[in-house]
Amino acid sequence: MKLPHLEWANQDSPYLQQHQLGFRSLSFDGELEASFKRYHANVFLIRMRWALLVAMLLALVFVVLDAFNMPDPLRGRVLAVRLGVMQPMLLLAWLATYRTGLRDYLQVIGGLVALLSGLSVAGVIGLARYHAFPLPYEGIILVTVFFYFLTGLRFSTAVLCGWITLLAYVSVELSLGFSSEMLVSNTLFLLLANVIGSVGCYSLEYATRQNFLAQGLLQDLAEKDFLTGLLNRRAFTERAELCWRQALREKRPVGVVMMDVDFFKRYNDHYGHAAGDDALRKVAHVIGEHARRPLDCTARYGGEEFVGIWYGLTEEQLLVILEGIRSGIEGLSLSHENSEAAKVVTLSIGLAYLAPQPQRSLEDALRLADVALYLAKEQGRNRVVAKKQAI
Ligand code: GH3
Ligand code: MG
Ligand code: MG
Repeated sequence: MKLPHLEWANQDSPYLQQHQLGFRSLSFDGELEASFKRYHANVFLIRMRWALLVAMLLALVFVVLDAFNMPDPLRGRVLAVRLGVMQPMLLLAWLATYRTGLRDYLQVIGGLVALLSGLSVAGVIGLARYHAFPLPYEGIILVTVFFYFLTGLRFSTAVLCGWITLLAYVSVELSLGFSSEMLVSNTLFLLLANVIGSVGCYSLEYATRQNFLAQGLLQDLAEKDFLTGLLNRRAFTERAELCWRQALREKRPVGVVMMDVDFFKRYNDHYGHAAGDDALRKVAHVIGEHARRPLDCTARYGGEEFVGIWYGLTEEQLLVILEGIRSGIEGLSLSHENSEAAKVVTLSIGLAYLAPQPQRSLEDALRLADVALYLAKEQGRNRVVAKKQAI
């Protein structure tokens, strides 16, 4: 699939990298695979639910047919398999789709149900053969097609179930001495059903993976700064508002921080814009590394300015983090001949440390952080200056 405007996506985006790497083997790298599995389970949840419901209804139709057509004692045995194994199993799996806690296990549950359904149908055919009842073998093709296309199983699970069911069917027929010409022809049809199912299921999962990557990329394009991979200003405002409101509810302090690279215009003028971009990426990386808890976040505010919010820390703890950022950037040792602050690229940091109150807004806090940043610049740059509350 050709996706437009990828040059505007952050090039470190895992979605972009996976898209460029390809995924013909239907697997993603690292954490992306786990997150795809969750996405897949959610996308196919409704389909799986309906598939199980339809399977229960179809299985009931066969119960009625068998009850009328089969002689005793075959009828009792087949109905025992259909009503004692298949229906309860389908029902349990259907109920499991409503348990959020089981969402991560739906593939396993679905796979087991598909496999047991396949084996049960093979068993029913075997029982019929044993009692010399002419039960058509096509039921096994129906289940095969069913779990390749309708159950929302991923390719690997569906293929495993499909081929084990095929082997089970062939074993049952062989053990009961089924005529070899018929067996060859039936096996051939079942084999073809599996090949068609495998190809269809592969392309379905491939398309689902493409959609997953496209959605992730779209989200990255909307929320992330393409140069540095940090959040952009809009996404920051959204997240910071959440953090702010949480702090207001919990009566916890927050640190709102503005950061600005020192003499960066001179850096660009001297080393060139490409080197400037590279320096910004490295600076952003150091900043991002210092905000890892769920409610903390950092972002590129624009140009060579960064912003961050930290939740619920004491001022001392926060100053340690910010000092870590400052010294981390100094420690990058990106030489900056024309800086008056140091011989390397440095960062000035302004901290507004305050407890959110109803009459106070995040914008007020950002303004206060800006004042602190201004003071840091005035006092010689490459330093952290904190301002408290007084707004
Ligand atoms: P100060 O120490 O007072 O902050 O001075 P400064 O030169 O850093 O600040 P100023 O606002 O005058 O200049 C900011 C510079 O940042 C201007 C611009 O060339 C550079 N800049 C902004 N965005 C980018 C970018 O995406 N890439 C590069 N390479 N440079 C950028
Ligand atoms: Mg600036
Ligand atoms: Mg600057």
